[in-house]
Amino acid sequence: MAVRTRFAPSPTGFLHIGGARTALFSWAYARRHGGKFILRIEDTDIARSTPEAVQAIIDGMRWLGLEHDEGPFYQTQRMERYKNVIQQMLAAGTAYYCYTSKEELDALRAIQESRKEKPRYDGRWRPESGKILPAPPPGVPPVVRFKNPTAGTVGWDDQVKGRIEFANSELDDLIIARADGTPTYNFCVVVDDWDMGITHVLRGDDHVNNTPRQINILQALGATVPQYAHLSMILGDDGTKLSKRHGAVSVMQYDEDGYLPEAVINYLARLGWSHGDDEIFSRQQFVEWFDLDHITPSAAQFNTEKLLWINQHYMKQASPAGLAEKIGPRLAARGVDTTKGPELAAAIALYQDRCNTLNLLTDAVEVFYVPIHPNPELLAQHLNDDAKPALSEFAARIPEIDWNIPAISALIKEVVHRHALKMPKLAMPLRVLLVGQTQTPSVDAVIHLIGRDMTAQKLAPYC
Ligand code: GLU
Repeated sequence: MAVRTRFAPSPTGFLHIGGARTALFSWAYARRHGGKFILRIEDTDIARSTPEAVQAIIDGMRWLGLEHDEGPFYQTQRMERYKNVIQQMLAAGTAYYCYTSKEELDALRAIQESRKEKPRYDGRWRPESGKILPAPPPGVPPVVRFKNPTAGTVGWDDQVKGRIEFANSELDDLIIARADGTPTYNFCVVVDDWDMGITHVLRGDDHVNNTPRQINILQALGATVPQYAHLSMILGDDGTKLSKRHGAVSVMQYDEDGYLPEAVINYLARLGWSHGDDEIFSRQQFVEWFDLDHITPSAAQFNTEKLLWINQHYMKQASPAGLAEKIGPRLAARGVDTTKGPELAAAIALYQDRCNTLNLLTDAVEVFYVPIHPNPELLAQHLNDDAKPALSEFAARIPEIDWNIPAISALIKEVVHRHALKMPKLAMPLRVLLVGQTQTPSVDAVIHLIGRDMTAQKLAPYC
């Protein structure tokens, strides 16, 4: 049977890290088995769902490269279908009308609580053979309840957590349609999973308690019950449940913070799944390796340091031209014009090993495209009386040499030698004057990148 998985977010906020991991695992499972990955937007909570959140989810998935094969399907566009299935169930006797008023339910709850019992519907409108139901009260619109089995257990072999069982006596008769006729959450999920032929449901383990109800309804419909894999929650760096308090909640925030999507994918893959000790692997490799057996049932802990380390790996590995496509717009957004300066990819090549985010790389290369105003303290410290004559000689001889790194390096060495100085005595003022910083890659490479004319121009006021 062809694998069909789905990602079914409720569009009430951004695509956050937990949702992105669920999407990644569902996507990878479908890809691994040559199946289909379906995107379904669970937007029946009209009050909390927004089009902006739908867009944010779609943008986040696109950024991560988790393309879906079918959908997006919107639950709000499937209302007729849910209503039809409810009618079918009423006709088949697997669902029934319930006229219990809110006051009656409150009274029932009060009695149950006083007896220290779990509040639950008592089945007063549930049809049973031989039972005589009261006459429906006039003018009261009923809800529809699912006729849950009363005996035995409902269970499944969770692909992550192992066997899970619930006694049917624990589950009361779920409302599947409200008095205004709108279907309820668990019911829509069931009809969708059924209609969309979902074979494997991967989702957060906050849904474990919904699963027995969903299985009972699927069985009442004669539908095939999918396999379930409930993913454990993700904890923040501090060991508490990952939440808005942990800052970067939206996947797109990682883009803004300068992470590469391939690094985030690699990092998410390891949040609760492992392949031996492998930490760095490509998306392709992940798809080849991904299975449900190696998803850990325990909670995974987010680790920003590790994400940075993985990001650094992908930054080092990236082609300078590829990085330039990402850094160019970031510089432009800062109002920096890169047309009058060295080729951006060449500047990036010099710095990409030293920066673990795109933002730090943007900061690093910006110095080649903006006027440098060296900090007076740094100037006083490095452009001292020993250094000045050497700097002047270096500047004066710039026009004589071939413009390549070995020639620049040879000139620096020759000048420091003639002035009986140590290398930093000339290298440091050069760094401060040319890029405004004391920490740079090899100074000959920096000078080469800046170019002959621009280097001469920048040094001239100090010689
Ligand atoms: N819409 C649910 C959520 O966002 C997911 C439901 C499911 O995967 O079955 O948590």
